[in-house]
Amino acid sequence: MIIVMRHDATKAQLENLVAQVHARGFRAHLSGGDERTVIGVIGIDPFSIRDVVADAPGVAEVVRITRPFKLSNREFRAGDTHVRVGDHDVGGDSLWIVAGPCSVDDEELFLETARRVKQAGAHALRGGVFKPRTSPYSFQGLRGDGVDILKEARRETGLPLVCEVLAAPDIEALADVADVLQIGARNMQNFALLSEVGRVRKPVLLKRGMSATIEEWLLSAEYVLSQGNYDVILCERGIRTFETYTRNTLDLNAVPLIRELSHLPVIVDPSHGTGRRSLVSPMALAAIAAGAHGLMIEVHAHPEAALSDGAQSLTPAGFQELVDQLKPLVRALRKPVAVP
Ligand code: PEP
Ligand code: MN
Repeated sequence: MIIVMRHDATKAQLENLVAQVHARGFRAHLSGGDERTVIGVIGIDPFSIRDVVADAPGVAEVVRITRPFKLSNREFRAGDTHVRVGDHDVGGDSLWIVAGPCSVDDEELFLETARRVKQAGAHALRGGVFKPRTSPYSFQGLRGDGVDILKEARRETGLPLVCEVLAAPDIEALADVADVLQIGARNMQNFALLSEVGRVRKPVLLKRGMSATIEEWLLSAEYVLSQGNYDVILCERGIRTFETYTRNTLDLNAVPLIRELSHLPVIVDPSHGTGRRSLVSPMALAAIAAGAHGLMIEVHAHPEAALSDGAQSLTPAGFQELVDQLKPLVRALRKPVAVP
């Protein structure tokens, strides 16, 4: 349920309502828009206190949010959420491009990739040191040993870093170096981990689970938001279908649909979405045409030497080409977005 305050409501009236909500055992989440403040009332059956709050001074209206996701719902916040990463507003007027290898596998190659993607115009660098691999015999990431390499790349390029966490201790291990914590597809419903990153004051990039519905995905976002961390960026990365030519089927329906349902920024990862290098750029362009706020692209200086996901990684030159193709597309879309 949301309580919409009148535009002339006073601070005291707002505080009084928040106190009433708390006194009845619910949590209050505030969303301050340009014109009005909204209080999201969270808990089991908040509508039971509708009559109590509806007549309180300063209240314009009380609206029941029928969908199960509440804080990520457009009804809670009418404007788009902007998530600040470095000097970029993700969800704002310009595309956010994250690029880098699937995993940090070799210091020199990682640093070379970092320099090249920066040159090409990436806004953030990706590189996993904790890798969720389907087989326990596959490369699991450099773990703690990779952290110094991440630091060096960040120092050299100045690019913010997006790094995946698999478990709560990884958050601490990456505390000094990661600017954005990625929750991967396989952990999208790891509710304990979602609550942990919800307690951290750092942006979270939440990938869609490979078998998750859009509603399940938004409910996972809700786990983070309900802990007080509102800086969530959603990432569509493909879902499992009967098709076998591609690793996943990139569900671009999700992009405009998320923008209808939610105020959270949504980006697209066509690397995992297709699993094939040749399909990455076409689907990246399609994602932007569909309204995505950005892209996450796997790029490796020498994809043939990559210890994970080389087959879907662009070369730095391929990434540069993609960025060059994005520029006229963005102009043609006449969207108020700019690529670097
Ligand atoms: C990744 O980004 O390298 C990754 C493991 O992605 P996903 O969780 O989408 O499979
Ligand atoms: Mn990968």
